[in-house]
Amino acid sequence: MDGLEKQSVICCPNCKNSFSDQSLPYELQLTIAEDLWMNHCEEMFRKGGRPRKLENLPSYIHTPRIKAYYEKLEKRIEARKERT
Ligand SMILES: [Zn+2]
Repeated sequence: MDGLEKQSVICCPNCKNSFSDQSLPYELQLTIAEDLWMNHCEEMFRKGGRPRKLENLPSYIHTPRIKAYYEKLEKRIEARKERT
């Protein structure tokens, strides 16, 4: 068993053209993609928007770290709604 099939190209779901360095280990590429995507989410949140839903993102980004981030983000969005 090889486990999950690894995506050949890992990148931020938002920056279609900025692919990560293929010479880096897969896990590191994924971490970079997570960081980039969370930065976009923070940016969107600050501007009052909400990021794309997790289920609409490519499956490689459905990592425990991103799932935990989204849970917190949903709560922050809800909290903001209540204030306004
Ligand atoms: Zn990006």
